[in-house]
Amino acid sequence: MSKEYKGKCHCGSVQFNVSADLNNSFKCNCSFCVRRASTLVKVDDSKFTLESSENELGSYGSRDFSDHYFCKNCGIQCYTRFKNEKGSGVMVNVGCLEGADSYSLKPSIFEGANKL
Ligand SMILES: [Zn+2]
Repeated sequence: MSKEYKGKCHCGSVQFNVSADLNNSFKCNCSFCVRRASTLVKVDDSKFTLESSENELGSYGSRDFSDHYFCKNCGIQCYTRFKNEKGSGVMVNVGCLEGADSYSLKPSIFEGANKL
């Protein structure tokens, strides 16, 4: 079941609200995600609201498929916006969510290495 979470980077410059079901958490094994090793959860665009200024964000990635957004001040990668043939959405770093213990979850593995 989805729950409302407040999310933020380490320094608090980047803040967002998201409604997510952490039972659907996953780790991705693409070349980007193996380096950051975050547990992620995927939500529809409508379930994610950025509360801070876009000026606090840097982004990295392929504009055709995904943009990985990180805090320009503390460097934490908070979320990724993606789009593919099935639509678009946001993959949120569970470690940024207040009240969520990403280490207690049992994330599945997304085979990004073969798809991206
Ligand atoms: Zn920050």
